Amino acid sequence: MNNVLVTGGAGYIGSHAAKALARAGYCPVTVDNLCTGHADAVKWGPLHRHDIRDGAALDGLFATYRPIAVMHFAALSTVGESATSPLAYYDNNVAGTIALLEAMRRAGCVHIVFSSTCATYGIPEQVPITEEMPQAPINPYGRSKLMIEQILRDCDTAYGLRSASLRYFNAAGADPDGEIGENHDPETHLIPIALQAALGLRPRLEIFGRDYPTPDGTCIRDYIHVTDLAQAHVLALELLLAGGETRALNLGSGTGFSVLEIVSEVARITGRRVPHVFGPRREGDPARLVAGDGRARDELGWRPQFSAIDRQIGDAMRWIDRASSAAGTGTHGGEQPGTTPTRI
Ligand code: NAD
Repeated sequence: MNNVLVTGGAGYIGSHAAKALARAGYCPVTVDNLCTGHADAVKWGPLHRHDIRDGAALDGLFATYRPIAVMHFAALSTVGESATSPLAYYDNNVAGTIALLEAMRRAGCVHIVFSSTCATYGIPEQVPITEEMPQAPINPYGRSKLMIEQILRDCDTAYGLRSASLRYFNAAGADPDGEIGENHDPETHLIPIALQAALGLRPRLEIFGRDYPTPDGTCIRDYIHVTDLAQAHVLALELLLAGGETRALNLGSGTGFSVLEIVSEVARITGRRVPHVFGPRREGDPARLVAGDGRARDELGWRPQFSAIDRQIGDAMRWIDRASSAAGTGTHGGEQPGTTPTRI
C-alpha cells in the first residue's frame, strides 16, 4: 500500500523524484506518454506509457496499484513554445490535470504534490520572491500552472483534495550517483547549454541581453539541485499523508547567479572556455528571479544538500560527459567549439 503514481516520471525532475521515493520506501508507478521523457530514466518502478488525458487508462492504473498519492510532473514546459502554441499548453497542462483529478476523485485518492513554477509570479516587484507576493504570469505556460494551482485549491474546498504546489525556480544538476540526468531536446536551460558549449558539443552559448539592471548586465536566476527538489517532494508528500493542509511553497536555493557568473563557473569547473555571443533580450525575461525559500524550510524541514553552485554544475557535467560518451560523441576527444553541434 505504498504506491505513488508519478505522472511525467520519465522526465528530468520526475525521474529524480522517483528515485527519492524509492529510497524513502515508496514504489513509484510512472505514467508518461514519453513526449519529452525517456523510458530508460524509469528505473525504480513500472512505466506505463499513457497520456494523462486518457481517463480510462488512469482508471486502470488506480484500480491496479491503488496509489496512496500522486506526484504530478507531466506538462509541456517551454515558455517560448507556449506563446506560439497556447492551446497545446492549456490542453496538455490544464485539461490533462483535470483528467487526472477526475480519475483521482473516482478512485478516492486525495493527496497530490504538483510541479508549479516561479513563472507564476511573472515579473516580480522585488526579490527574494515570497509565496504571498502577487502571481501574475506573463506567458501561457505560467498561466497554465497558475490555473492548476487555483483548480487544486477549489478541489480542496469541494472534495477535500489535499495538495502541495511546489513552485520551483531553476532545476539544475543531475543524480549524484550518475544514474539519471537532464536530457531535454532541444535544451533550453543555461547550465547544460553552457557545459555543452564548453565541452564542444554545441558551437556556442547565446546570452540574451547584457543591459539588465544587474551588476554585470545579465539576468540573475536561482538554481536548485534536482536531487534537493526531489527530496522536497518526498517531504511534502509525507506532510500531506500525515494530515497536512493544502499549501504552496517556493523551492529555490535563495541565492541568485547571473548568466556571466554561471559562465565563469562553468569555465572554471571544466577548465575550458565557454564560447558565447550576446543577443538581444528575450521578451518577458525578468532581470532577477530569486526565491524566498524560508517557508519550505520551516514547513517541510527541507535542507538542500547539493545546491552549492559548483556541485550543481559538476554533477551536470559528469552526466553530460557520461551521456555523450555512451552516444559515442565524446567530450574530451579534441572536438573544437564551433564545429557541428551534437545533441545529447
Ligand atoms: P520534462 O519535459 O523532462 O518532464 C515532463 C515529463 O512529462 C516528460 O517525461 C513527458 O514525456 C511527460 N508528459 C508531458 N505531457 C504528458 C501527458 N499529457 N501525459 C503523460 N506524460 C506527459 O520536464 P522537467 O524539466 O522534468 O519538468 C517537470 C515539471 O516541473 C513540469 O511540470 C515543469 O513545468 C515543472 N518545472 C520545471 C522546471 C525546471 O527547471 N526544469 C522549473 C519549474 C517547473
